[in-house]
Amino acid sequence: MFDWKQDPHRRLNPLTGEWVLVSPHRTQRPWQGQVEEAARAAQPEYDPSCYLCPGNERAGGARNPRYTSTFVFDNDFAALRPDTPPDRFDQDGLLVAQGEPGICRVVCFSPRHDLTIAHMEPADLRRVVDTWAGQYRELGARESIRYVQIFENRGAMMGCSNAHPHCQIWSNSHLPNEVSKEQAAQLEWREARARCLICDYAALEATRRERLVEENASWMALVPFWAVWPFETMVMPRRHVAAIDGLDNAERDDLADILKRLTARYDRLFAAPFPYSMGFHQSPTDGEAHPEWHLHLHFHPPLLRSATVRKFLVGYELLAAPQRDLTPEAAAERLRSA
Ligand SMILES: [Zn+2]
Ligand SMILES: [Zn+2]
Ligand SMILES: [Zn+2]
Repeated sequence: MFDWKQDPHRRLNPLTGEWVLVSPHRTQRPWQGQVEEAARAAQPEYDPSCYLCPGNERAGGARNPRYTSTFVFDNDFAALRPDTPPDRFDQDGLLVAQGEPGICRVVCFSPRHDLTIAHMEPADLRRVVDTWAGQYRELGARESIRYVQIFENRGAMMGCSNAHPHCQIWSNSHLPNEVSKEQAAQLEWREARARCLICDYAALEATRRERLVEENASWMALVPFWAVWPFETMVMPRRHVAAIDGLDNAERDDLADILKRLTARYDRLFAAPFPYSMGFHQSPTDGEAHPEWHLHLHFHPPLLRSATVRKFLVGYELLAAPQRDLTPEAAAERLRSA
């Protein structure tokens, strides 16, 4: 048996059926990459040039109300439009395309330009959780909407052009690729074992604890065994819940709590605001029962060894399979001590 602290090996992601190559022996090699000072300029509470701050004009010409809590609006330059005809084009199975109706929204977490999740009050974060649940239910109730993707891009490194803490909700009529893979895996697990894949995984990690980063009464945050990004984490409720609107009162408070503590830990890791893409995976809104689905979030942060040195998925990773040097166990240990 190989030693997964020393020997090259690959790990299976049971949610997607994909493998990641792990090369722990390479963490000893010298690093000659670029190191530069991260921009750490403090943000103001209100920025007159921010298109998300209360009372300001947006790029599309609309003006934000003087909102005092979370604020939701339809994206002015939406990637999807509700009136798109759902027609299909197919030439010999080679040129295949389909119209994709959908709705894209933006959720400002708070009127404060400078308050990230890590710095928000628990009661205000709870309002964000309730907004996510309400949007999931409202958008999902529409005939043409079969999946609601809630996600946050944070930091210029992740292509986020606006520092005002906000997330996006893209909802559309077909299951996106990643969700489709995870649905198939959860369904297969349930059919083969009459149990839930993520319930089983959470129970195993709660016992082993080596990849656990944060936990509270109803949630766990951990570096998954098959993580691709150096400090990737997965956040999951202990109870089997298919979607965010199924969370009870205590679970919603606990979600706000674990997100605050996890993002604060990320910020402490390299003593700088930590960039990431995060988002929920949950049951489709296609009107079917989905007992196989277990709600969870993924955090995909790009940083590797400092506030400016990021991991790139290039070369072998782009053409063959993702690869990492730092083991998920070592990454969890570093996050726990941050
Ligand atoms: Zn702002
Ligand atoms: Zn479950
Ligand atoms: Zn997932």
